[in-house]
Amino acid sequence: MNHTPEADRSLPLLPPIRHDGLSGGCSGGMSRTPPILEHLEALPKARQVRPGAWVACCPAHEDTTPSLPWSTSGDKVLVKCQAGCETEAVVAALGMKMSDLFAPKTSMINGASPASSPAATLHYDYRDEDGHLLFQVERRHGKAFRQRRPDGRGGWVYNLDGVRRVLYRLPELLAADPSETVYVVEGERDADNLARLGLVATTNPAGANKWRDDYSESLRGRDVVVFPDNDAPGQKHAEHVARALQGIASTVRVVLLPGLSHKGDVSDYLADGGTVEELRVIVRDWPRPRRRSRSPVASWSWPASSPSACPGHGRATSRPAR
Ligand SMILES: [Zn+2]
Repeated sequence: MNHTPEADRSLPLLPPIRHDGLSGGCSGGMSRTPPILEHLEALPKARQVRPGAWVACCPAHEDTTPSLPWSTSGDKVLVKCQAGCETEAVVAALGMKMSDLFAPKTSMINGASPASSPAATLHYDYRDEDGHLLFQVERRHGKAFRQRRPDGRGGWVYNLDGVRRVLYRLPELLAADPSETVYVVEGERDADNLARLGLVATTNPAGANKWRDDYSESLRGRDVVVFPDNDAPGQKHAEHVARALQGIASTVRVVLLPGLSHKGDVSDYLADGGTVEELRVIVRDWPRPRRRSRSPVASWSWPASSPSACPGHGRATSRPAR
């Protein structure tokens, strides 16, 4: 998922948000938090204004001064654009349905487990070639990210001063068959989701716009596919990565997944019923760089059918029927 430096700065590092007793109710892997919350919290300039109340830029109109407040009440989310957008338009711009304003009805069979609640904090390990832990990215609910490194005494230091930065899942990347395509995504969760499906996947720490030239060396000679997040920062990031890999990777292709909603990514594609077999077909059929071309990078142009990438012009696109 997209987490821009701007979002990192604007999101306060507060304790995990509790949505009025909704958090923690997990059963069978289903969250009882209204599904739209995560999408609202990912909007530009999203910030918490008081417990249970947030504001962000409205995705349904050109909005630079956050004018979309929302709050939780019981099992539902109350959202109202101050500029007058219909709530239906706001929900559609997020690629969601009105029912996503409500927590799904799930039975509490096994009781709440803090470890599986949406408020849980996740840690992603970044390791060197030999598998030694260099640092971690910590993800809290609400997509607040921060980075930390071992202090050598069993604790953590919350900065990466002097720490070598590497690509996520570097040991797995280096151990994989060099003929395997490497998928570069935006976010550790996406890389893990692809790895679970047997693909070689990686990402860079700190999200969009944070690719470093020395990361490219780890992809020397590889066939690389970049899956951008479906928003303007995601596309810009993908193009930057592809350019950085010119002359280093064997081939680079920026591949757009069909049917993504605004800000959607490969995890959304999979969650929405997409399969790894379909991913392989899409990638197989995506144009390869032409031999005569001096550039190893293919397919810069975003298909005309691509959903709008501008946050101010977000419009819902429904997935093609499967
Ligand atoms: Zn609006």
